[in-house]
Amino acid sequence: MANQLLMAKSPEEAVAAKNASAVFVAGGTEVNRLGSDAAAAADTLISLKKCAGLKDIEEDAGFVTIGSMCTFQQLVESEKVPSYLKEAALFMASRTKRNMATIGGNIASKRSDSYIIPTLMAAGASMKLLTAGGKEVKTWVGEYIDEGDSDALIISVTVPKDMKVISKRYANTAQSHAVLTMSAALGEHGVRLDGAVKNVGLLHFCDLEATFREDPDVSEDKIIEMVRVCTGLHTADDMFGSDEYKRYLIAVTAYDLHKRITGKEV
Ligand SMILES: Cc1cc2nc3c(=O)[nH]c(=O)nc-3n(C[C@H](O)[C@H](O)[C@H](O)COP(=O)(O)OP(=O)(O)OC[C@H]3O[C@@H](n4cnc5c(N)ncnc54)[C@H](O)[C@@H]3O)c2cc1C
Repeated sequence: MANQLLMAKSPEEAVAAKNASAVFVAGGTEVNRLGSDAAAAADTLISLKKCAGLKDIEEDAGFVTIGSMCTFQQLVESEKVPSYLKEAALFMASRTKRNMATIGGNIASKRSDSYIIPTLMAAGASMKLLTAGGKEVKTWVGEYIDEGDSDALIISVTVPKDMKVISKRYANTAQSHAVLTMSAALGEHGVRLDGAVKNVGLLHFCDLEATFREDPDVSEDKIIEMVRVCTGLHTADDMFGSDEYKRYLIAVTAYDLHKRITGKEV
């Protein structure tokens, strides 16, 4: 259990203090959650609350750069943030939590029910990190999810302003954990599909993308069958539903989002 609190004044001070037994604290909604592994394992909490330069939202040449300490509520209220990202931020139904939780904390948590990571991945969002060695590095959200340096500090996230991105989230209630959150984006290379599948992970559905690219009019039944037999998808029965149900949900959602984003919905 933590016995020291460091109020870092700058990103450099925060990364200099980071080691295996120290944890960054942004909004604290995940770190301070009851039963959180992060808090239990930490000796030192490094608060980012007073860190300079992490709370701005700036727009330039069709892109919006969001400081990692921006809260979900700031995203919702900012005129610069694109509507597709506001929609994802509003998946966090509690306003109290939106006032505390940050975009950086959500990405770093890499949760399989993340509210916003599918949207960021689909939109091709990039990130600026400050590594433990004090080096600034640019990466993609998708890359960070797969192999991100967990000691690095997330400085900011950059998203395209005018991209067409749509998302869908399934949960028992607005406050419940989602079994599936999926996003589709329409870019230069066609439709991109990403999702958060509870207890499975954050996934880029490249096989589905390829199928839609090869045959934009592929039938829903073919997509359902493709996902039903997919061996690379490690869904299982749990309290969020059966393996069969999750595969069906992924398939029909991918089909629906593809139709909607390409303007072919009936
Ligand atoms: C009841 C409850 C339900 C929840 N349900 C969901 C849910 O359904 N989906 C979901 O996505 N989340 C959920 N959360 C978790 C949490 O609220 C969000 O993920 C939130 O966005 C985390 O942001 P934060 O600023 O509070 O992060 P913190 O709790 O401060 O930090 C979270 C993690 O990110 C790291 N971190 C924070 N900022 C940075 C940074 N700038 N650079 C590097 N690492 C950083 C911390 O070290 C920590 O490991 C839930 C939390 C609670 C309490």
